[in-house]
Amino acid sequence: MQIHADVDLKPYTTFRVAAKAASLVVAGSAADIAEVLDSGSKPALILGGGSNILFTQDVDGLVLVNRIEGRDVVATLDDHVIVRFGAGESWHECVRWTVDNGWGGLENLALIPGTTGAAPMQNIGAYGVEQMACFHELTAMDRATGATMTFDAPRCRFGYRESVFKHELRDRMIITSVSYRLSTKPVINASYADVGNELASRDLSSPSIRDVFDAVVAIRRRKLPDPAVIGNAGSFFKNPVVDHRVYLDVCRIHGGEVPHYPQADGSVKVPAAWLIDRCGWKGYRRGDAGVHEHQALVIVNHGDATGEELLALSYDIQQSVRDRFGIDLEREVNVW
Ligand code: FAD
Ligand code: NAP
Repeated sequence: MQIHADVDLKPYTTFRVAAKAASLVVAGSAADIAEVLDSGSKPALILGGGSNILFTQDVDGLVLVNRIEGRDVVATLDDHVIVRFGAGESWHECVRWTVDNGWGGLENLALIPGTTGAAPMQNIGAYGVEQMACFHELTAMDRATGATMTFDAPRCRFGYRESVFKHELRDRMIITSVSYRLSTKPVINASYADVGNELASRDLSSPSIRDVFDAVVAIRRRKLPDPAVIGNAGSFFKNPVVDHRVYLDVCRIHGGEVPHYPQADGSVKVPAAWLIDRCGWKGYRRGDAGVHEHQALVIVNHGDATGEELLALSYDIQQSVRDRFGIDLEREVNVW
């Protein structure tokens, strides 16, 4: 395994901003990672597909790119299978593989960029499903000691775009494999309007997980900016979940009904994209830093924006939403 010096990180992230790593190594197995740790090198940063990170400075240390492959069925139960993915596998290709095999649970999460190893980090979610719904367990190595540990769902402390790996265990663990419990008698979830409408438009009497997968892929291709075309890291902020009183304030300030989704505990989710759009940011551009013209939650790099410029724009967006609606938007993208 070769450790490369002074590496340009631009091709390693979907934001494609300029940044350098003092050194970088690509690990293809847990043994590779053990070798790196045994040599005394401690990775400063772990990268998967780089689709949820913004560099605002160089990495003055070792970047470890996780490319561990592998897809296995580890158990077959009555109406479930347990599958395990190497942490460097493409998330979307793994979802496609599960659908090809008729195993349900992950189909709503089609076309999310990045690796399987990063999926538990922020408990990825889309179209009414979070990866925690099917999560079985993961294995990870302690960056400091090299010890391998297994985490079940309670130990991961999953929440809305949250896990223990973003908090108490931040920068501590290297996830090497993730396993999911998938149904061999799947029930589809078309609770999100876009998915329901897309399936309805296809005139399917009894949609399958394959139909949901195809519908999600089609919706995402239509609605979301393709990082291969324009630099971005998906949603820059989380959707705020606020007290009902705060939601009523937002309606009062706006002077009418506001899109919202009541939560089981009485709180209310307000789409961040709606708040940002109301503050006039959709399609805004400052140099090469901008807000996507169709999706106000996505900050984009039109070409040569720096990480600092994109971050400064995000601060301005947060400030204007705070000033107008009294809501603090929390960042979803990881900033280095
Ligand atoms: P990276 O960006 O490489 O890393 C993200 C974080 O995880 C970093 O802090 C990194 O250090 C850490 N990390 C990565 N791999 C490991 C590992 N093996 N061990 C330990 N730490 C690790 N997210 C959603 O939740 N839902 C969506 O619908 C969604 N849609 C998106 C659409 C677009 C167009 C884009 C660009 C992004 C979208 N995202 C979405 C965000 C992103 O794709 C996910 O968060 C994805 O899981 C990130 O994977 P990655 O491998 O690229 O992670
Ligand atoms: P959308 O369907 O236009 O909906 C706007 C927002 O309203 C979403 O963020 C979603 O919250 C919420 N919402 C919509 N229908 C809902 C329902 N039935 N119940 C509860 N909440 C509902 O959103 P979009 O921008 O096109 O994205 C579609 C899905 O892909 C969303 O789930 C979104 O999270 C996901 N996505 C995520 C990223 C990312 O980087 N994290 C990027 C692109 C898309 P939730 O976000 O909580 O689902």
